[in-house]
Amino acid sequence: MEVYADYHTHTHHSHGQGTIRENIEAAIEQGLEEIAIADHGPASHSLVKLGVEDAVTLLEIKKKVEKYDRLYPEIKVLSAVEANVVSLEGELDVPNFILKELDKVLVGFHLFVKPASWRDAVGIIFNNLVLEQVGIKQEEIRYQNTELLIKVMNNYDIDIITHPGYQINIDTVTLAQKAAKHNVALEINTKHLPKKEYIKKAAAQGVKFSLGSDAHKPKRVGDVKDSLAIAKQIGLTADRIINVK
Ligand SMILES: [Zn+2]
Ligand SMILES: [Zn+2]
Repeated sequence: MEVYADYHTHTHHSHGQGTIRENIEAAIEQGLEEIAIADHGPASHSLVKLGVEDAVTLLEIKKKVEKYDRLYPEIKVLSAVEANVVSLEGELDVPNFILKELDKVLVGFHLFVKPASWRDAVGIIFNNLVLEQVGIKQEEIRYQNTELLIKVMNNYDIDIITHPGYQINIDTVTLAQKAAKHNVALEINTKHLPKKEYIKKAAAQGVKFSLGSDAHKPKRVGDVKDSLAIAKQIGLTADRIINVK
């Protein structure tokens, strides 16, 4: 099995360090045939803003991506985003008309985001960061988290859910069943490597996977060897992984 693409890389437009060009050159060095520039959506936030300036910035990045795609014929450069879930209704921080312009739409359920409202802040962040951790309402929160990602798949045309289960409690089997139905790949993220047992459970539902580096520095672009190793260990074949041939 050979990895030919990395669809999860960040640049200085959000929380990453390198430029688009540096990520592309690193990808070429790794022998990749495709790379996506998937910066964090505008709601990414901890004490400081971590995402792109605003959703429209993604269209500016797309223009640069198209320029570099022509400049580097040896690799296909794709425009993308790692959008955030920001409301209990399953809304993302990037409107549909912008998502439609991008080559790939990745969605990450991050807790460090600026939610759409106070109600969403309590429902999403407080529940997961406080109550879940101390063991209160765990079943309810797990159900809500899973439902939120399902709502996102109903509301938007997305390609990949990044690091499912990282920071949040989800029902892997239910999520994988719905993702398979919507043709959404679940990511095996090298930076936040999931437990083998969860990937096994998800794989049994027929869902596809994507191996992502989640590189925030150019030197990590294409670094998915740990994800690939797990995929091999549980017997996934290339037809089950969207960036492997
Ligand atoms: Zn992420
Ligand atoms: Zn990421």
